Amino acid sequence: MPICRNKEDVFRLPFLKNPCFLHKGKTITSSHLMEAGLLWIRDIMNDDFSVKLDFIFGVLKNKNINFRKCSIRSITEKIKNTVTLFWERIMQTKDISMQNDDLNFLLCQNNNPVPVQEIKTKAWYKLLIAEIKRTPTTEKIWAQIFPGFNTKSIWTSGGGLFTPPTLQHLDFKIKHRRIFTGIVLHQINKGKYERKCKKCNEQDEDLEHLFLDCSLVRAFYSTIRRTIQSACNFHCGSDTKWTLLFLFGLKKNSAHQHTHIINTILSYTRFSVWTVRNYALYENRTLSLLPFFKTLFLNHLKNCFFAIPDTFNQLLNTGHTLFTVHQNNITLNL
Ligand SMILES: [Zn+2]
Repeated sequence: MPICRNKEDVFRLPFLKNPCFLHKGKTITSSHLMEAGLLWIRDIMNDDFSVKLDFIFGVLKNKNINFRKCSIRSITEKIKNTVTLFWERIMQTKDISMQNDDLNFLLCQNNNPVPVQEIKTKAWYKLLIAEIKRTPTTEKIWAQIFPGFNTKSIWTSGGGLFTPPTLQHLDFKIKHRRIFTGIVLHQINKGKYERKCKKCNEQDEDLEHLFLDCSLVRAFYSTIRRTIQSACNFHCGSDTKWTLLFLFGLKKNSAHQHTHIINTILSYTRFSVWTVRNYALYENRTLSLLPFFKTLFLNHLKNCFFAIPDTFNQLLNTGHTLFTVHQNNITLNL
């Protein structure tokens, strides 16, 4: 028996010489219907199993086939009987092929029950994302360190068009707190690494000490903070806000006119702290933070200026006094 899940499947079957449709033990044949091209059940029957007699007569006439109405009535009556029997047999069968596999239930969407067939693909994705989405662990830790801080904002802060990928990578690792600090390295290899900060030798080096609290870093940040305040006329308020700014940068959609240059400075500030610390840790070299930062930052500005002068002038050279462009040369004012 062919697999028929519903009535439509039955109506897709051919009825001539089909062993499913036997009349007195024989398959049905009709040279008239075959000649007219009426081969499928749907061609001759309506949904309620009634025969489309007038339609069949019309087709036969149009094709100039000689027929007698009574013989057509007779053959279609036989077909109707066998098809109806076939359908009844299917309805009585508990075969798995009869199961209606169509999904049919209501789903709550915006507090309204909606038939599942009407849910759009995008809505399905949103539901699935909500199921598997987890709050990054780092957000909980940052919230403990900075109570009241909207930790979600870190994902839309910092970076930007003028932040090279290497710096963005470091920013990303800081946000996720995936930094190999002295404490972490010591846990990995106690014989090789100490917990103490290699720059100041005063405290154990955790992420906050490395990027915020180390005495050498604090002096450097003070200079950067004064520079941003005066050169960019930027004031963000409390010390905590400045700390958050040094860690994550300004929000990308900040309305401040110097957002690009401030975020670029801050990314280079973090990168300088990280690189100078690595020189101290891995190469035992002591570098001064401010000159190191100035060299890196100035080179980057020059590269941007020569590579994309229009964008540079439009987004970075925005009327602050942080640097001066004069005859294709850039001078830092800090
Ligand atoms: Zn230190």
